[in-house]
Amino acid sequence: MRRPTLVAPPLVRDHVAGGDRSTRALIDLDAFEGNVRLIRDLVRPGTDVMAVVKANAYGHGAVPISRAALRAGANSLAVATVDEAAVLRDAGIADPIALLGAIDLSEATRALRLGLEVTVGSVELLDALAAAARVVPLPKPAAVHLKVDTGMRRYGVLPEEAVALARRIDRDPLLDLAGVSTHFSSADDIEERPAIEQAVRFDRCLATLREAGIAPFRAHVANSAAALRSRRFDYDLVRPGIALYGLPPSRDIPLPLGIRPVMSIRSRVARVVPLAAGDTVGYGRTYAAERQEHAVLVPIGYGDGYRRGLSGLGWVGIAGRRAPVRGRISMDQTVVSVPDGVAARVGDDVVVLDGDPQWGAPDATTLADLLGTIPYEVVTGIAARVPRHYLRGGALDAVVVPGAGKVGRSHDPDPL
Ligand SMILES: *Cc1c(COP(=O)(O)O)cnc(C)c1O
Repeated sequence: MRRPTLVAPPLVRDHVAGGDRSTRALIDLDAFEGNVRLIRDLVRPGTDVMAVVKANAYGHGAVPISRAALRAGANSLAVATVDEAAVLRDAGIADPIALLGAIDLSEATRALRLGLEVTVGSVELLDALAAAARVVPLPKPAAVHLKVDTGMRRYGVLPEEAVALARRIDRDPLLDLAGVSTHFSSADDIEERPAIEQAVRFDRCLATLREAGIAPFRAHVANSAAALRSRRFDYDLVRPGIALYGLPPSRDIPLPLGIRPVMSIRSRVARVVPLAAGDTVGYGRTYAAERQEHAVLVPIGYGDGYRRGLSGLGWVGIAGRRAPVRGRISMDQTVVSVPDGVAARVGDDVVVLDGDPQWGAPDATTLADLLGTIPYEVVTGIAARVPRHYLRGGALDAVVVPGAGKVGRSHDPDPL
């Protein structure tokens, strides 16, 4: 069998810099940018793209991913917390950043200082924001989005409360009603009707707002699933997250041709672990070899986000073949059995997660199915201690260990 070669180039850089751990996440910025452009071309002309980069860009690294999104034509960014937005502002990103959900009332001042677009989903937050706007010097009225709950029962004001809140925002000289939004409970379901029903409720709410003379503002509803399934949900801007990372929102919503996965998890064999018949592997002795096995140690564990639930279930790719996990996954180490005919040695490449089946490794959706979860949780759960290696134009652009910052780079003087 042809042995596939890894795309990661040899690391030519200062090895005292750190981030040289064999377990690492490769982040393909070209794939990410291609995905942003594809979504931008998919939506109706004139529809803006707000790239959702919450939770450290779904584990892919907020700063480099945000820069890539903007480079590829995203009009704005969205995060979940004020702290996440502050990381982007600290990195010098001055583009519009929206906060998608509830923030603590005490954070209103900081949000305005950072020039963030706050999403108001309660009277209390609007009160706090209006008060904060009177304290923080604002170059222009603060952009506010009003979130309407059309069926999700999570964040947002009920449609019948929307006019009163929108009017308050509209009339406040220090606030600007930039957007009115809602969020779907099941846009990723095979059954489209619940999303349509929510959209109809949202349309009725928009009509009431316009009848009340509240305009202009930009309406938005679409997460990835909604944006992928129908132009009905475009409105003035779309808010894709998961699809930009090359992952499908669900098994029912296939990705369009050309969308490519962005993250791959790689490691290297740290030790050969010969198993004789009767040997047990790892904590709890949950696996006993029935015959002689060629097993190897991979330095990855649940402390890296390689979830313990994959014990006895998961597999990695070695030389393009499946190498099943033996015994329990520990915090930092996992033992896998190398298939017959493969002579794995220390330093050999191990592919832990990859969207391309040629490596013999599961993709994020397969890992999610094994764990009874969704690919969102798999990639978001990749721990901070896993160095992120950013690839661009087929070369290594930069290495970031979240928490330690940028630790290495190749050709680009400021790739991040
Ligand atoms: C996370 C989020 C999105 C993006 O959802 P995906 O399914 O990842 O595309 C969009 N809108 C809101 C309000 C969100 O919280």
